[in-house]
Amino acid sequence: MDIAGAAALVTGGASGLGKATATRLAAAGARVTIVDLPNSAGFEVAGELGGIFAPADVTSAEEVALAVDAASTAGPLRVVVNCAGIAPPAKVLDREGKPSSLADFERIIRINLIGTYNVTSQAAAYMARTEPTEGGDRGVIVSTASVAAFDGQIGQPAYSASKGAVHAMTLPIARELARYAIRVCTIAPGIMETPMLAGLPQAAQDSLGQQVPYPSRLGRPDEYAQMVMAIVENGYLNGETIRLDGAIRMAP
Ligand code: NAD
Repeated sequence: MDIAGAAALVTGGASGLGKATATRLAAAGARVTIVDLPNSAGFEVAGELGGIFAPADVTSAEEVALAVDAASTAGPLRVVVNCAGIAPPAKVLDREGKPSSLADFERIIRINLIGTYNVTSQAAAYMARTEPTEGGDRGVIVSTASVAAFDGQIGQPAYSASKGAVHAMTLPIARELARYAIRVCTIAPGIMETPMLAGLPQAAQDSLGQQVPYPSRLGRPDEYAQMVMAIVENGYLNGETIRLDGAIRMAP
C-alpha cells in the first residue's frame, strides 16, 4: 500500500517506538498525527516531522475521537499504530504480604489494553467510511504487545495480562474488519532501547542485551519501525502477532 499523502496516526508517538515509527512513516510521505499525553514531547516531535500533535489520553473516548478527527484532516487515514503504553512494576503482594492495590492493576489494563481497543475501534469506524485505494485497501492497524504476553516476569502480572489481551484480540478484530479491507496485526517486541527502560541501571540493560541469542543486544526503536513498515507493505499479512525479539525467551 502506498502511503505517500495518506494520513497516519501513532499513539505514544512522542517517545521510543512510537516516535521511531512516526519518523519512518513521515519519511515514506505519510502525514503523521502524534497522539500522546499533553505533557509529552508530542508537540516537538510533530513539529520536526511536519505533522500534527493531537494531545489525548488513549483511555478517553472523547479525546481519541478528537484525535482521529484531527488526523483525518491530513488525508485518508490508512495507518494507525498503537504504541502508547506503560510498564510500571506491580507485584501481587506488597512488602508486608498484603494484596497490592487494584487501582495499579486497573491503570495498566486501562492504558495498555482498553486504550489500544479505544483507538482501534474509533480509527476503524473512520477508516471503514473512507474510499479504498485503487488496490482495494482501506488501511492497516498495528498494535504493540510484548514478549511479556508469553514469557511473563515477576512483578508484571497486569502488564502481561494487558499485552496478552492485545495479542488475543488481534485475530478477532482482523476477522471482523476484513469486510472493510482493513488489516490488523500486532508486534510483540522483546527488550527495546527506549525511555521505558530508563529506570533500569545500565549494567542491567547490558545484561539483558547479552541474553538475546542474536544479535546479543537490546532492540532498536528503528527496528520496530521497520517491522511496522513491513506490515504496511505486505498486503497478505493479517491477524498475526509477530515477535520482534532476537529469539530471546525471558527467564522469570
Ligand atoms: P515510551 O515510554 O518511550 O513511550 C510510551 C509513550 O506512550 C510515551 O510517550 C507516553 O507519554 C505515552 N503514553 C503513556 N500513557 C499514555 C496514555 N494514557 N495516552 C496517550 N499516550 C500515553 O515506551 P516505548 O518503549 O516506546 O513503548 C511503546 C510500546 O511498546 C508500549 O506499549 C510498551 O508497552 C511496548 N513495549 C516496549 C518494550 C520495550 O522494551 N521498550 C518492549 C515490549 C513492548
